[in-house]
Amino acid sequence: MLTDGVALTDHHCHGVVAADLDRPGFERLLSEGQRGTFDSTIGLAVRRWCAPVLDLAPHADPAEYLTRRAELGWREVSTRLLRAAGTTRWFLDTGFGGGTSEFAASAGGEVREIVRLEQVAEQVIAENGTTTLPFEEIEAALRERARNAVGLKTIVAYRCGLDFPLRDSPPAIVAQSRLTDPDILGWLVGLGVRIGVEFGLPLQFHTGFGDTDLRLHRADPLLLTDFLRTTAGSGLSVMLLHCWPFHRNAAYLAHAFEHVRLDLGLTIPYVGQRSTAVLAETLELAPFDSMLYSSDGYGLPELHYLGALLWRRGLGRLLDEWIGEDVITPADAERLVIAIAHGNAARAYPE
Ligand SMILES: [Zn+2]
Repeated sequence: MLTDGVALTDHHCHGVVAADLDRPGFERLLSEGQRGTFDSTIGLAVRRWCAPVLDLAPHADPAEYLTRRAELGWREVSTRLLRAAGTTRWFLDTGFGGGTSEFAASAGGEVREIVRLEQVAEQVIAENGTTTLPFEEIEAALRERARNAVGLKTIVAYRCGLDFPLRDSPPAIVAQSRLTDPDILGWLVGLGVRIGVEFGLPLQFHTGFGDTDLRLHRADPLLLTDFLRTTAGSGLSVMLLHCWPFHRNAAYLAHAFEHVRLDLGLTIPYVGQRSTAVLAETLELAPFDSMLYSSDGYGLPELHYLGALLWRRGLGRLLDEWIGEDVITPADAERLVIAIAHGNAARAYPE
């Protein structure tokens, strides 16, 4: 397949658990909800594709898989699966799931940081107390962190929804230890926009499905339409992450706005064999220079590996079909693979 062996830039992922896991611990991380289980599409994918990386036959049963995993130990399992992904650049959201140096020891390649706005703000509030919002200190801390980062990230979708009120100035209200107030969040995202433009850093938004903290209807990227209209032409680059089941809505936004890009991280490992269909639905409207690769792997290195493997299979099968039907030439298909795998990320992110 055209996608075999192409080097990937994983522009949004997290660290892995640095401990051996029992079956409940493993299955809990094989889900975004309360029903983590091998009896699922992603469970099938682990058994089919990850088992051979641990020297087992494809489709090894769950007990056999976890016994072998324990025998090898988490360090060896992480090293094998992360290196098998074929990813040469990893952009790690350090707001959740550990730092860059632990990850680099297992993953190899270049590991850079994505700074999460809410995590930095809440850390500053914890140090300053919650009576008044320490907005100058938050801005100073974010600027300091931005100097070594390749991007910024916001989880405003989780905290109040993507229809937040964008603000230039901080609201005169008491700070919260866990930020959920729409005005504070709207100011924080506005700060992320200003710092992103100034430092040339893209701003990533969680959109679409995620863990049970989320109200999914508040995470539809279409709720960002006014925000995107406001920030068009500002020099900011906006990254819509994950997107499922709103990947068509996200593709429309990438079609409509020049500064919008999107990925199917988190989505692809979970939809398994259906990755071909989801990629096809996204490419219905998303311009080819707007799509990026990510795994959104978190906790289990299986998720980083499946993100890469199922992306390669899904896009490879889709392009084989397009070439077979004479929709695209093999040379144009190869250019498209390289663009999504790493070329578009190289243009959007700083060196
Ligand atoms: Zn993430």
